[in-house]
Amino acid sequence: MTCPNPSPQPHLWLVGAGPGDPELMTLKGARALSKAQLVLYDSLVHKDVLDLAHPGAQLICVGKRAGQTSTPQALIHDWIDRGAQQGLRIVRLKGGDPMVFGRAGEELAYADQIGLSWTYVPGISCGTSLAGLAGIPLTLRGVASSAWLGTATGQDGRMTEDLFQALDTSSTLVVFMGRRRLRDIAVRLIQLGKSNTPIAVVSEGSLDQQQCRIQSAQVWSNDPDWTSLPDPALLVIGEVVNHRLQSPAPTKLRSISPSFTHEYQVPHLPEARKSHLQRLRRL
Ligand code: SAH
Repeated sequence: MTCPNPSPQPHLWLVGAGPGDPELMTLKGARALSKAQLVLYDSLVHKDVLDLAHPGAQLICVGKRAGQTSTPQALIHDWIDRGAQQGLRIVRLKGGDPMVFGRAGEELAYADQIGLSWTYVPGISCGTSLAGLAGIPLTLRGVASSAWLGTATGQDGRMTEDLFQALDTSSTLVVFMGRRRLRDIAVRLIQLGKSNTPIAVVSEGSLDQQQCRIQSAQVWSNDPDWTSLPDPALLVIGEVVNHRLQSPAPTKLRSISPSFTHEYQVPHLPEARKSHLQRLRRL
């Protein structure tokens, strides 16, 4: 299969692939992917999402998994540059939302620098979706009136000052890249007199193998098995965890083939239904 037709103008789409489950990517992202000639993707992107790319597109993994060597940012810029010089439609595909711990700013600034036009296609961030997928509301009336998103470790390799301070509030805390800091976080909570604060670790969230383990700060601090859950993992800390709903049912739709033939779907709006179907078919 040859590459889709070269475009008159090169263009970069920065696309969020969502938290993992391929069905959680946006329609706009899927459409950009189906038109791309060069796809630069991160390793957290699900293989089924890549299947949406045009068979003739060039797919290059430029990502890293925790603890492994990452592709230097300069090399990613180099790929973008090469794609631009060849006049290609490039998709830069990142897990979750590219603007949340995705180094999107650097890549878009680079696109600006080389005069490459770009479009940002948001994705569902793990930060806003994984708590809910584990049955935990991020905010809850009378329990938590705000949610804080942050990373656990700063550039100096220590717990960030922001997290250190945030642990002393009643906000729900959603911590990216925090699994290895779990014990430090638990110890800080204990020092603050909050040893009963529940901490949920959501591992491989949104995927079939999603796991969620919940223990108080006190228990985590003494748990010999504290790193046993697999990466990627996200921490959800705060009173809302005690309000976890009973296991949500799996919501996979992939096995249901969409036929869209049911006349009763939008019975009183034939025109609206037509354009809706046309839009879906164009995907
Ligand atoms: N841009 C992404 C975050 C990238 S940072 C977003 O908006 O979600 C990578 C971190 O995100 C991981 O170290 C982990 O903390 C979290 N993460 C990504 N995918 C995850 C998943 N499926 N389950 C749990 N945590 C995940």
